[in-house]
Amino acid sequence: MRMERSHLIVIGLALALLAPGPRSARADAPPPVTLTSVRSWTAPANTRVVFDFSSPVDAVMPDSGNAVQLVIRVSAPGIVPGTNAPGVLAVRDSTVDTVFTSFDPQGAVLALHMPTGTMFRAFRLAGGDDKPFRIVVDVARPTAQVEEDRRLASVAAEKRRDRVRLVVIDPGHGGDDTGAKGPGGTLEKNVTLAVGRDLAEELNKVPGVRAMLTRDGDFFIPLRQRYRIAEKAHADLFISIHCNSSHRRGHGSGTEVYFLSLKGAEDQADQDLADVENAADLVGGVPPQAEDDVVGVLYNVRRNAALERSQLLAESLLDHVSSELRVESRGIKQAGFAVLKSVEFPSVLVETAFINNPREVRMLRDPTFQRQLGKQLASGVVAYFEKAGTPVGVAPDTLRSAAQAVRGQ
Ligand SMILES: [Zn+2]
Repeated sequence: MRMERSHLIVIGLALALLAPGPRSARADAPPPVTLTSVRSWTAPANTRVVFDFSSPVDAVMPDSGNAVQLVIRVSAPGIVPGTNAPGVLAVRDSTVDTVFTSFDPQGAVLALHMPTGTMFRAFRLAGGDDKPFRIVVDVARPTAQVEEDRRLASVAAEKRRDRVRLVVIDPGHGGDDTGAKGPGGTLEKNVTLAVGRDLAEELNKVPGVRAMLTRDGDFFIPLRQRYRIAEKAHADLFISIHCNSSHRRGHGSGTEVYFLSLKGAEDQADQDLADVENAADLVGGVPPQAEDDVVGVLYNVRRNAALERSQLLAESLLDHVSSELRVESRGIKQAGFAVLKSVEFPSVLVETAFINNPREVRMLRDPTFQRQLGKQLASGVVAYFEKAGTPVGVAPDTLRSAAQAVRGQ
C-alpha cells in the first residue's frame, strides 16, 4: 500500500509538471522587455532623447526628417515601463516640448512633441558593456548650426583683432558617454569638465591668451566635431582632458600626455587606451551615417609641423604637472587618438590621473587639486609659447612660477 501511494504521488507530480498550467506557462515565457528609462540631454546644437530598453526591440520609426511630432512604434508584446520611464517627460528646452510613452498589449508608442517643425535623426544603438539597447533621437535646435558658426567666427575675429592666442580646451566625454568610472560614483566626464573649466579660467588670466571650452555643460560631442569647433574658432592649441582607468591598463597611477601617432602606438597598452577613448562615439552615440572620415590621415607639411609642436606642447604640460603636483609622470606618449587629428594646430590629450586608483580618485574629486592641475597646465601652456618662440605675457601672481621656470632654462 505504501509503495502504491508513493507511486501515485510521483505520477501526480509528473502530471502536474507536464500540465500546461498558468505556473509553468509563466516559467517558460521570456521575461517581458522593460523600457527602463527615458532621458534627455540639452546641448547647444541639439536636444537628445534616449530610450533605454532591457533588451533589443523592433521599432518602426523614420531615420530622419522634419516634424512637429515624431512617433516611434515599438513592437514588444508585454513590454512594461521601468521606474525611470515616466508617461510624460517634460523637456521644455525650446527644442523639444514633451516626450510621451504609452503601452498596449503589442508594444509601446514613444512620441516626441516639438514647438515647431524641426529636423531630427533617429537611430538605434546596440547595447554592450554596461550600456543598454537604446533608441536615440537627436532633434536639431532650429538655427543652432548657423548660430554656432557665427559664434565661432566672432571668436576668431576677436582673436585677430586683439592679437591673442586661442587655446581650445576639450573636456572629454559628456552626456550619455560618462567615460571611465571611479569608486563612489565619480565619473570621468565630470572631472574633465571641472579641470577644463579651471584651466580655462587660469589661461584667461594670462595677458595675450584666451581660452574656450568645446563643451561647458553635460552633453556629448562627437570626437571629430570637437576639433572642428577649434578649427572654426582658429585655435592655436587644442588640449583634450581625460582620466585614465586601470580596468584597461593594469594597476595604474600617474599622469601621461599623448600626441598623435600616424602609425598607431608602439606600445599595445597605449593603443588599447586610444581604442577606448576613440570608442566614445559608439558609447555616446553617433548615427552610423555620420561616421565616415573620422580616421582620415593627411601626410603633408602642415601635419608634420603640427606634430612637432604637439610634442613640444606635451612635454611642456607634463613638465609642469609632474614637477608641482603629487602625481607621478608616466611620460609623453603617442597613439592614434581620433580627437587629435586636426592639422591646423598642435593638439594633445592629457590623461590627468587614474580615476579608479583610490589615492588618485580622491585628488581628482577634490576642487583644490582640480584648480592646482588647471594652474599647472596653464603654466605648461605659457612655457610652450615661450619655447615655441611666440611668448605671451604672464599674469602677475598665478603664473609667476611658470615664468621663472622658463626664464631659468
Ligand atoms: Zn577619456
